[in-house]
Parts: sequence; structure tokens; C-alpha cells
Amino acid sequence: MSPSPSMLEPTSTSLDVTAHVAASIVPAVLDVIGQRWSLAIIQALLLSAKSFGQLLAELQIPRSTLAARLKHLQAMACLAACGEGYQLTPAGQALLVVVSLARDWDARRGAPVVPALLHSCGQAFQPSLRCGHCLVPIEVRDIRLDSAGLAPQMASLAKPLKRARAEFAAEQQLTAAAILSDRWTALIVALIYFGVQRYGDIARHLQIAPNILADRLLRLTEGGVLLRATDGQLNRPLYRFSAEGLQLFPLIVALTGWGDHWLRPHYQASTQMSHRPCGQILQPQLHCASCGQGVTLASLSAAIC
Ligand SMILES: [Zn+2]
Ligand SMILES: [Zn+2]
Repeated sequence: MSPSPSMLEPTSTSLDVTAHVAASIVPAVLDVIGQRWSLAIIQALLLSAKSFGQLLAELQIPRSTLAARLKHLQAMACLAACGEGYQLTPAGQALLVVVSLARDWDARRGAPVVPALLHSCGQAFQPSLRCGHCLVPIEVRDIRLDSAGLAPQMASLAKPLKRARAEFAAEQQLTAAAILSDRWTALIVALIYFGVQRYGDIARHLQIAPNILADRLLRLTEGGVLLRATDGQLNRPLYRFSAEGLQLFPLIVALTGWGDHWLRPHYQASTQMSHRPCGQILQPQLHCASCGQGVTLASLSAAIC
């Protein structure tokens, strides 16, 4: 099988893709940020600490939902209470890369993104995820998946929470946060990146109910993320990423990188991806697309409209 630009090419043909996704940090990261509103809360706290009331007014979400999400993010060590408010911990601040790329993906699809951010170079901040070794922007065709470091004891995909389905259905727009906050959808996207493209293979890998899988694939197809095609030899449906879907790839890499740094127990190997242009193990870094410099929170400010 020749590699398609919409999938990663495993270095070993015997690589079990489900084992890789399960052993990758993706499910653990989804446990932290894969709830509706979690990314919005992180974003709201990126530039400054805020009180519960300020968050309530800014996010316009039910009080009980905000309280539950804050409690969860505190338990996950992403934010801490400070005085009468909340502030991000270093782990929460490091989610800047995930929030930035999610915002950028939404903006490219025409969604309003506020607040606008300025980089210290004076330009509107547009994120670019680059290889930490050679600084080449990360694209799916440049990434190689390595089978080393798999943890067999983790080789099963945790079942999503039941309520995730209703939340996904209620979303008006298919935003990056909506994709990440529906665990089935996020896992389907990850599997297709890892090369599982046939309907039957996705169903088998995820052990997902046919109606749920059909619903998620339809949503991703209608949302312009996936393209439905037919496998010529077997006459079965298969799914590839559209150009917009491919632009989600840096986001998946970013959350993998974040999880490897902040969630991975020290005795486990990190997710094994290497970068073809330089041949090094991939270490993604956030850069400013305008000036090319590395980006930290301190180099960003809210644009005054
Ligand atoms: Zn590189
Ligand atoms: Zn810049």
C-alpha cells in the first residue's frame, strides 16, 4: 500500500494501530481537555487570572458547568485557585500551543476568534507548529510513526462517556474544540491519521456501535473535515482528510507533545514520531508564522480593537 498524504506511514507493517493510538498519549490528553468548555476556560485564563464571576460573564456558560470544569481542571493540575480567582499552572500555560492551533483552525474556517492576539513582533499572532530541531513547519507527510515504545498494557481504547454524544450533537458548528470534546470523534480523527481509513477497520478498531460511527463520520464529512471515497478493490467506503482536515494535524501533534511532557509517567516511553526532513524524534514547538520566532505566553498580548 502506498502512503497517502492524509495518513502517517508506520515504519513497521506489523504495527498495531490501535495499540499505537491507545499507547499514545491521546486518550489521556482527552481526559484532561476533552470536555466541552475546557479549552475555552484555558483560553480565558491564558493572559490573566480571573475570578469565577469574570469567567461566568465572559464565557456565558451555566454556573454549575463552570464550577465542574474548574474543579476538573484543578484536579488535573492545569489551574489553581489564587486569591478569589483562578490562574493557570505551568501545565495549563503550556496548553497555549493547543489553544492557539485550535483557534487558528477555527479562524481558517471562518469562525470568529476572540480576543485577537498580538505577538511581540507587532503582528497579529498566527501560530505555526514547527520541528524543534530543524524548524520546518510540521506537516503530516513529513512525520513517520515508530513502533518503538508501545506499552502493551495500555493497548485498549477507553470507552467515552455517554454524555459526550449529546454534547457533540448540540454543537452548532464543527469547531476544533467540538472535535476534541467528543471522545469518539477525536479518536476517529486520530485513527485516520494513523492510517485506519476503511469504515470496517475503524469500526473494528474502536468497537463502536454502527449508528454512532455513522453519525460521527457523517458529521465530519458534512463539516468538511473528511472526504468519503470508495476502496476500488473491495468497493467499500473509506475516509480521507480534506485539505481542512489535514490542517488539524498540527493540533493532534501539539496535544500529543503536551501530553508526553506533562502527563506521561516518567517510566513510560513517549509517543514515537520522527520528522523526515531532519530524521530526529519529533519535538514540536510553537512559533509565530509572521516572524518565525518561538512563542511564549509572555510574548503575546491581547490586541486592542
Ligand atoms: Zn525536523
Ligand atoms: Zn512574531
